[in-house]
Amino acid sequence: MTMLKSKTAVVTGSTSGIGLAIARALAKEGASVLINGFGPADEIEKERAAIESEFGVKAIYSPADMSKPEEIEGMIRLAEKTYGGVDVLVNNAGIQFVSPVEDFPVEKWNQIIAINLSSAFHTIRAALPGMKARKWGRVINTASAHSLIASPFKSAYVAAKHGIAGLTKTVALEAATHGITVNCISPGYVWTPLVEKQIPDTMKARGLTKEQVINDVLLEAQPTKQFVTVDQIAALAVFLCSDAASQITGANLSMDGGWTAK
Ligand code: NAD
Repeated sequence: MTMLKSKTAVVTGSTSGIGLAIARALAKEGASVLINGFGPADEIEKERAAIESEFGVKAIYSPADMSKPEEIEGMIRLAEKTYGGVDVLVNNAGIQFVSPVEDFPVEKWNQIIAINLSSAFHTIRAALPGMKARKWGRVINTASAHSLIASPFKSAYVAAKHGIAGLTKTVALEAATHGITVNCISPGYVWTPLVEKQIPDTMKARGLTKEQVINDVLLEAQPTKQFVTVDQIAALAVFLCSDAASQITGANLSMDGGWTAK
């Protein structure tokens, strides 16, 4: 598949879960990719090398911390230096923390706003001039059903995700005449390390067992009673890069098993 042949993509938070699936799907379409995120060095190198060998594209890794503006700018400059530009920017890095608001640690609030929201401002700020110069670009922000609705005990996450939906719409307007689309994808629950890690805190905050959290909180939220898969999200990201999607901009596309339709 060659839809993105000669294009390059930066995908933040792509060492696992949704981001890794998106990076692999863009590479499958021919894009050279920069992957980013944390994890054991040998596993990241294995994923990077697998992208190169399976899809015949170049893949580089940046360990930039999405809570640090100077490292974010360095990551975009690395992609530009290596590949000559950034055509597709996927802002996907994210973390979660579950706590009643009155006990929510201030440093956790700041960290979630920095990684889940401000990082997208910094990547866009660094990458947009190059996209404008080349008159083509795709910015895809991984938001969440929580960009549209709230759940208790997730104040920072819900605030950051509502924020990224607003950032998406604003930048879409600013970039509209430059061949650049800016959209967000809002998944419902996807079984990834992020969801798995929040189960103990949700059990504590709501006084539920693990099975009750999975069945009565997570799957109960989604009318389909199924988790969304990482590959389904990645397929939507690929579609947003296609010519068929060139008039979709400023949109917040839900893929949540009907959750936010309720
Ligand atoms: P995940 O934990 O598998 O992936 C998160 C990625 O972000 C990892 O690669 C991690 O290393 C990276 N990351 C975390 N902190 C970082 C930092 N400071 N700098 C750079 N990278 C960092 O989780 P996921 O579920 O794949 O989440 C990806 C995105 O999808 C997040 O923005 C999340 O909010 C969003 N999302 C997830 C779900 C879900 O149910 N899993 C639902 C809606 C939205």
